[in-house]
Amino acid sequence: MFTSLRTRLWLTYLLLIGVVLGIIGIALITILVFNPTLDRAAFQRLDVAAVAIQRILHRSGARPGTMPAVQLREAVIRADELVDARILILHDGEILADSRADAAPPLRLQPQTETGPRGLLRDRSGQPWLYQFSQLDDGFSLLVATPRPRRVATLLSLFSDELLPPLALAAGLALLLSLLLSFLMARWIAGPLQRVADAARAVSQGQYQTLPLEGPQEVRELADSFNQMTHRVQASQKSQRDFVANVSHELKTPLTSIQGFAQAILDGTVTTPAALRQAAEVIFSEAGRMHRLVVDLLDLARLDAGTLEFTRSSIELAGLLKSVAEKLTPQAREAQVHLRTDLDQLPNIIGDGDRLAQVFTNLVDNALKYTPADGEVQIRGRQIGDRVEVSVADSGPGIPPAELPRIFERFYQLDKSRRGGSGRGVGLGLAIAHEIVEAHGGSLQARSEPGQGSVFTVVLPIVQPDDPTMVARRRR
Ligand code: ADP
Repeated sequence: MFTSLRTRLWLTYLLLIGVVLGIIGIALITILVFNPTLDRAAFQRLDVAAVAIQRILHRSGARPGTMPAVQLREAVIRADELVDARILILHDGEILADSRADAAPPLRLQPQTETGPRGLLRDRSGQPWLYQFSQLDDGFSLLVATPRPRRVATLLSLFSDELLPPLALAAGLALLLSLLLSFLMARWIAGPLQRVADAARAVSQGQYQTLPLEGPQEVRELADSFNQMTHRVQASQKSQRDFVANVSHELKTPLTSIQGFAQAILDGTVTTPAALRQAAEVIFSEAGRMHRLVVDLLDLARLDAGTLEFTRSSIELAGLLKSVAEKLTPQAREAQVHLRTDLDQLPNIIGDGDRLAQVFTNLVDNALKYTPADGEVQIRGRQIGDRVEVSVADSGPGIPPAELPRIFERFYQLDKSRRGGSGRGVGLGLAIAHEIVEAHGGSLQARSEPGQGSVFTVVLPIVQPDDPTMVARRRR
């Protein structure tokens, strides 16, 4: 019930109009009820009547003191008929004649009646009368009275005769106006909202669209947030698709090799011990490549889910970097690259030693891979304030500036021609290294100028043993 915006707007207008008209009506009635205009008008009529009666009595020669009571009564009844007011002739507080003695209950005169020229008194039945008192000659006096006008009844008739029609007209007009306004408002507000709802429905069916930023401020903000959301959903869907395509591709290449060589052995095509050995070596190295890929994928999945466990222990960083260099020295010798270390007095840091060793191994391994013979790779470490900075610099071909921001993306490889081969990675190493460094509260950045080599810099905080630094990271 009343679920649509249009109905709610219309009802709100209706309520508002009702309240405003009600307040106006109540205010009008209050003003009229407490307004003494009706009494004043009645008193004015009594004033005029009193003067007229005195004239009538004077003209007819009626002298209260000399006339018989019956004649006096007839005279006041006649005057009553003429001025339509109850007429009493009094003498020393005694009623000599009352024009309505037969028609209405007698008036309860009070001692003060004769003191005030006008006022209110009641008859025996309790009905209120407005009166006007005037002194005649020889101690006689004249009292003219009329029933007090009934305000509520008069007002009700006034209301129904005169106020109700314009009020009803105003209400009708306001109603029409409110219908029109609610229709326009609903189109103005609900229109853009409806467009957002339609667009959301379309997204659920896989049709993405960008909403125009129009309508009221709030609706514009909603449309803007909606656009941002759809772009992110699209980007995330694309990266998911790319990820699956990359994984399949990276698995397909070694699998095809393994399958081919295994088939050749089974077919008996490979017979000599040397050829058999070569086939076994290829199968072994391709299986190793697949194993590395699966391990990397598992690491990434755990990093994304925030379930990769990091140990927290004190690490002697200089020692860790030296052992990485030692481990890779044979590879450097084989590639004829000079591997040097330049390590200051480095402080101990808190973190996961194995994972940090994985990061530096990856960086040095890359540097050695991409540096030509006779080149140089240098591992440099120093403390800067409350942080340590470790950089791995090489004299390789460098990375073009346009590619630099993308090298930490998953499966991104700069030189496609160098892909494959037993020692080559699949483009996950830097992505994993980046995640591990960030999980340690640090940062990993790359600088490079083509032809001048590249520098990968890891900055890590020197954390105190009781600092809660290792946070499980969940990908946005
Ligand atoms: P890979 O396993 O292919 O080395 P990485 O994630 O470690 O994957 O590196 C991603 C890409 O970044 C590499 O394919 C390479 O093109 C580029 N890259 C990384 N380190 C260097 C470097 N020191 N010099 C030049 N290019 C590099």
